[in-house]
Amino acid sequence: MSHPQSLNPASAAPIVVCPTCGGPSLFAPSNTWRPFCSQRCKHIDLGAWAAEEFRVPSTPPYDAVHGDPRHRDDDQ
Ligand SMILES: [Zn+2]
Repeated sequence: MSHPQSLNPASAAPIVVCPTCGGPSLFAPSNTWRPFCSQRCKHIDLGAWAAEEFRVPSTPPYDAVHGDPRHRDDDQ
């Protein structure tokens, strides 16, 4: 009576949509790549996210140097 989640583990795992390929993915501890359906789909998503993340921190410093000409003129 103290194991409500172990009632039926096989059918308790929900099926979710894989964010990468849109296919069915088993959202359960047995699926290491959840919510993705496979390792490949997870790596594709992480690769796209990392590539986008890589451009964000390089933009502000570049824009700060060229975005304030008065500060450069005052420095001379
Ligand atoms: Zn997938």
